[in-house]
Amino acid sequence: MLRCPICNYKYDINSMKVLENTHNELLGEASILVHSDCKKCHGSVMFSIGVYGPEVTSIASVTDLTLEDTKRFRAAPVLSANDVLAVHKEIKKFKGDFVKAFQTNS
Ligand SMILES: [Zn+2]
Repeated sequence: MLRCPICNYKYDINSMKVLENTHNELLGEASILVHSDCKKCHGSVMFSIGVYGPEVTSIASVTDLTLEDTKRFRAAPVLSANDVLAVHKEIKKFKGDFVKAFQTNS
């Protein structure tokens, strides 16, 4: 059973959502991507579980993405180097106040 890497709380199966599940029966390999929200500390964790024959590996990464965020970002197109450059150029041109620019008018 998987435990929360933050508070060690034992996850119940209902708080875990499988995002991706691939398997290759021929090679006896499988990989599962699971998102879990901890009921105790409310931390979100992604588990990448790999099965390679008798070997099982699991990598947990703490994330600030909720399950909904995770679904949204997985569906989003991959950023290209040009996207990063475009943002870089815009920031270079920007002469204002960053804090003010990102503030929402509330
Ligand atoms: Zn926890």
